[in-house]
Amino acid sequence: MSNDDCLFCKLYRDGDHVNATDGFVALRDINPQADTHLLVIPERHVDTFRDVGELTPDEARRMLEFVADTARRAGLEDYKVVVNVGPGAGQTVFHLHWHVLGGRIRGLA
Ligand code: AMP
Ligand code: ZN
Repeated sequence: MSNDDCLFCKLYRDGDHVNATDGFVALRDINPQADTHLLVIPERHVDTFRDVGELTPDEARRMLEFVADTARRAGLEDYKVVVNVGPGAGQTVFHLHWHVLGGRIRGLA
């Protein structure tokens, strides 16, 4: 499931997680574009959102719930959830991830 050369596969294993559940972690973005900028990363390596069907139906549902849970635990009521799909849309890490942006947002909106 894991890819040795993939940054987010590594961060899934070794990162400093602010929230975690079976198969998913959340961590702080190293270059935050908002007052609160978290990344939700699945354990399963999926290159882009285009391939979201590679998640099982249960994983897909639990991932969405985990995004909401992560925002709630970060104290966010109003926030944006952003996925960049492909380089033309700004994707730089090719392991599916969701940006959770709260407070004052500077980018990715
Ligand atoms: P994207 O541009 O949508 O692929 O998002 C990748 C995000 O990963 C960017 O917002 C980067 O700032 C963030 N990022 C890159 N390296 C790290 C790292 N080592 N730890 C946390 N976030 C990172
Ligand atoms: Zn990966």
